[in-house]
Amino acid sequence: MKKTTLIVILLLGCLCCRAQNEKLSVLWTELTGPDFAKAVEKAEGVCIIPMGVLEKHGPHLPLATDCILADYIAKMAAEMEYAIVFPTFYVGQINEARHQPGTVAYSTELCLKMLEETCAEVARNGCKKIILFSQHGGNNALVNLFCQSQLNSERDYIVYETLFGSKPEVRAEIEKRIKTYSGEHAGEQETSELMAARADLVKLDQASTQNGEALGRLPLEKLRPSIFWYADYPNHFAGEPSQACIELGEYANLEGAKFLAEKIRRVKGDNVGPALQAEFFEKSKHPVDTEQ
Ligand SMILES: [Zn+2]
Repeated sequence: MKKTTLIVILLLGCLCCRAQNEKLSVLWTELTGPDFAKAVEKAEGVCIIPMGVLEKHGPHLPLATDCILADYIAKMAAEMEYAIVFPTFYVGQINEARHQPGTVAYSTELCLKMLEETCAEVARNGCKKIILFSQHGGNNALVNLFCQSQLNSERDYIVYETLFGSKPEVRAEIEKRIKTYSGEHAGEQETSELMAARADLVKLDQASTQNGEALGRLPLEKLRPSIFWYADYPNHFAGEPSQACIELGEYANLEGAKFLAEKIRRVKGDNVGPALQAEFFEKSKHPVDTEQ
């Protein structure tokens, strides 16, 4: 075989491999079995679990708003920096909305158990670095507790928590663009974000049919009983979305995805966390031998 022919074949082979690699979906659900193995390699073992919950979002947004946004941003981020995106995890803490239609509030025990077994299954499939990306504020404490509980027993994978949010300069820009006040739940920002992701699901004309202002029914300074959210927002609606606009949503979603992509990159490069965790588990087997 001529040298030039060989070079052409090798080049074509390389291009073919690249094309195949580039075609890999970021979504766990869309990969074939053989492609999944390639995806794990390409992702360097990083899997994102987008977390939301099923709860009322004012009178104008769908129950799965947090799930849709978590999924949307995680997918966009993984396309910037390759990672595998697990199906949206809708099992979460949402007891405070049990009085509203459509809420699915599992027990804390089940939420923790589902997270535990899901992470173990993700890891068994080769993804040893798992990012929990929660878009639901009510999950913050749950995700935090779950991550802390990872040290309870030895495992060959590591879980990183990251809650929604943006860089300070992006936050400042969002605040500047917001015309009313952002609110915390189904307000101008979140409504804009959903408009950018799924405009067909936003019923902005319904937004003013309920009140999204804090009622301040429980003025207990520096004390927070478990009924605090219901006390302020019995409609499970916090904000004023009438001025919501797609441009704000597009900006917030894109910046959120860029921020998450940067975290994927850092997780890929993190060799210290897994090594320290392994060292910790080893030492935990015989704590009296730990140097004092
Ligand atoms: Zn939400």
